[in-house]
Order: sequence, then C-alpha cells, then structure tokens
Amino acid sequence: MLSLIGDYESKLKKAAHTDRLTGLYNRHYMITELEDSVKDGKMLFAAMVDIDDFKMINDNYGHNAGDYVLVNVARIMREVCKDCRISRWGGEEFLILSSGKDRARVISLIEALREKVSSEDFVFGDDHIKVTITAGIAEFTGDTSVDKWVKAADDNLYSGKKSGKNKVVS
Ligand code: GH3
Ligand code: MG
Ligand code: MG
Repeated sequence: MLSLIGDYESKLKKAAHTDRLTGLYNRHYMITELEDSVKDGKMLFAAMVDIDDFKMINDNYGHNAGDYVLVNVARIMREVCKDCRISRWGGEEFLILSSGKDRARVISLIEALREKVSSEDFVFGDDHIKVTITAGIAEFTGDTSVDKWVKAADDNLYSGKKSGKNKVVS
C-alpha cells in the first residue's frame, strides 16, 4: 500500500514536470533546473532552439501536423543530446541545458541537431514536411543571473533568425 502511494506520488511529480505533448521538461521545471545547476560551478551552456516558419507548417499542413513536428523534433533532440536536460520553453521553442562540455563540443552538438532536423523526412499522411531550426547558444558566466543567461541565448537565436534561419549562433 505504501509503495503504491509512493508510485502515485512520483507519477504526479513527473506529470507536474513534464510537457504533455512532447514529454520534455516544461518551462516551469526547467527554470528550477537552471537555478540549481548554476550552483555547481560547472561549465554550463544553454541553447535556445526555435523551429523556423512553424506558423507556415500549421497553415499549410494543419495543427495536427504541427503537433507531429513538435513531437518528432523533441525525439530528435533526445537522440542527439543524450546527456542534456531538454525543455519545451514555449510553443515551438525549446531550451537545452548542457553541462560538463566545452564550448566547441556544445556547438558541434547543437550543429548536429540542426543538421539532423534539416535532413529528416517528416512524413505526415501524404505530406513530406521540411523542417529547420535556428539555435542560440550562451555560456553561463558566474557573474550573471539565470534570466540574463537565457536572454543571451535568446539574443543569439534572434540574430540567427535575422540572418537567414537554419543556423546555430554562439
Ligand atoms: P520564426 O521562423 O521567426 O520562428 O517564425 P514562426 O512562424 O516559427 O514563429 P511564430 O511565432 O510566428 O509562430 C509560432 C506558431 O506556433 C504560432 C502558434 O500558433 C504555433 N504553436 C504554438 N504552440 C503550438 C502547438 O502546441 N501546436 C501547434 N501545432 N502549433 C503551435
Ligand atoms: Mg519559430
Ligand atoms: Mg518562436
């Protein structure tokens, strides 16, 4: 009986941490992960990842196709970044937290993710949907806040969007 209650409790906890569509961490939980991780003093990188022209995917193929793309981009992120913490930050925006890697390795990891998404054949019904992502990477520098760190990743994402999308900016 006690172990049943324990199981139930841990299921509830997991549900509260998880984005229902993708199974990734939700934003609320990711913020606590970011706040905790900056206390370790390890090298930390945040990558803000946003699907390019996602509104057009919804408009052209329908909302269910859009959901299908979100689920599968999430799957690819898990496959490529096995030891990352990955969250759905907003609608079609994801925040990836990588620790214990140097800058060059993080950049090549996110570049591999960009490459894998752009070469994947997303098949939904009769449609083959082309998907690309843009990412902004920022390192945590001890003298700043989590908010400013995330904003730095977001600023890099924004410059990737302005300069043509389907790219990684660090
Ligand atoms: P950009 O390349 O600049 O990122 O453009 P975008 O079209 O990707 O960005 P925009 O912010 O204009 O559109 C995002 C769209 O994502 C709008 C919103 O309806 C859609 N969206 C948000 N959440 C979901 C969801 O859970 N499922 C689906 N299918 N669409 C969603
Ligand atoms: Mg977008
Ligand atoms: Mg967006």
